[in-house]
Amino acid sequence: MKKNVRTIWSVAIVLLMAAVLSMAMPVLGEPAFAQESGTHPAALDVNAMSIGDTPATAKKENPMIVGEKSATAKIKKKVTFKKAKVFNIQNARGKVTFKIINGNSKITISRAGNVTVKKGLKKGRTYTVNVKIRAGGTKNFAAKTVMARMKVTATARKVKVETAGPKNTGDDGTGITHVVILGIDGAGRFFQDLDMPNLKRAKDKGAFTFNCLTSDPTLSAQCWGSMLHGVEPDYHMLTNESVASTTYPLDSPYPSVFRVIRENMPDAELASFCNWNPINTGIIEEGIDVRKETAGDAELTEMVCGYLEQNDPTLLFVQFDSVDAAGHQYGYASWDFMLTLAMMDENIGKIYNALDQRGLLDSTLFIVTADHGGTLEGTHGGWTDEEKYVMFMASGPGVVVGEFEFMEIRDVPAIVLYALGLSDKQPAGWTSYIPAGLFQSMEGGNRP
Ligand SMILES: [Zn+2]
Repeated sequence: MKKNVRTIWSVAIVLLMAAVLSMAMPVLGEPAFAQESGTHPAALDVNAMSIGDTPATAKKENPMIVGEKSATAKIKKKVTFKKAKVFNIQNARGKVTFKIINGNSKITISRAGNVTVKKGLKKGRTYTVNVKIRAGGTKNFAAKTVMARMKVTATARKVKVETAGPKNTGDDGTGITHVVILGIDGAGRFFQDLDMPNLKRAKDKGAFTFNCLTSDPTLSAQCWGSMLHGVEPDYHMLTNESVASTTYPLDSPYPSVFRVIRENMPDAELASFCNWNPINTGIIEEGIDVRKETAGDAELTEMVCGYLEQNDPTLLFVQFDSVDAAGHQYGYASWDFMLTLAMMDENIGKIYNALDQRGLLDSTLFIVTADHGGTLEGTHGGWTDEEKYVMFMASGPGVVVGEFEFMEIRDVPAIVLYALGLSDKQPAGWTSYIPAGLFQSMEGGNRP
């Protein structure tokens, strides 16, 4: 009995400390720990994240499809296009409503979907407006929200409105038009021992595995390289030394997923925000119009949130480094390491909320993963379970809810291309596969 009371107390203290420290975190920047290091068993099983206990929704998926259409009209003081002229919506179940997410004050959409363009747009320029289209659902069909992209171009005499996407007729059939990857360096699969409420919010709506096998050796450049280039290190050849001094060749048969998207979607917004700068300079190619930023974890989070206020990235990659730093300093799975990982939850939450505020959650594949884990001695590079397995979590439309069995880190780029409807553009040299149990539309996956 006494022992139980003591356990409850230590759990309460741990939670309180994590809360206090996470509040102090943005002010203090990177954590500097005064506590002794060493494991703290009570902290480690505070609340294992609920695994697969959220049943898939009983309602059928709403079959709404948003196709492309365009219309042109003579320019007047203002011109209104009826919904049916610009939005080709089929099979929707439930009432369909429209809302502009961002754009220009001269372009408006009524709730019913009629588009009004006022005079005064710059001639010849194309304005892109993101529109949230929601089918309300019925007793048997779930509500569904998709993001469509509307392009408005005015000439001296005419105004043209075109709608494109979302790619809900693409591979995934669900309308993912954005992918966000949060990579937590050195976090391995230690997530499974922590209560991370923000991560849980996404994870409860997503697919996840704690058996994502990373690359050998379990070093940063090798593993991030595999995650972004779709092959094992023997092929991409990236090492911590090479990425510090060399840019990745633009003619490699193993291009990064960024390069593949750029070559097939010239207008895509691509961004990489990394604490560890060599990812930006040595792993992701130069000259393919990827916005690249570097900062410490706390500042990086603010930068990403600021970026998301203005932008709708097709692919946004974020890499955090403070967890790995704690692992090297105190030992992976040590008390200080676990606390640093627990505090990472706040960064995840801020970025998740920023996507929500932008209205992008319904059209985003939101991924959280790691490049490798590490040992209690504070090292990685070897092939122990603590080093070679990482967590992978993806939530978004069309994703299976619950745990799936297995994948490899080099499967990430195939997953990204599939989500964006670009699977047929996958480079022949990649050995990147869709794991079974991730997408509803691809029951068996294609991983051999
Ligand atoms: Zn690393």
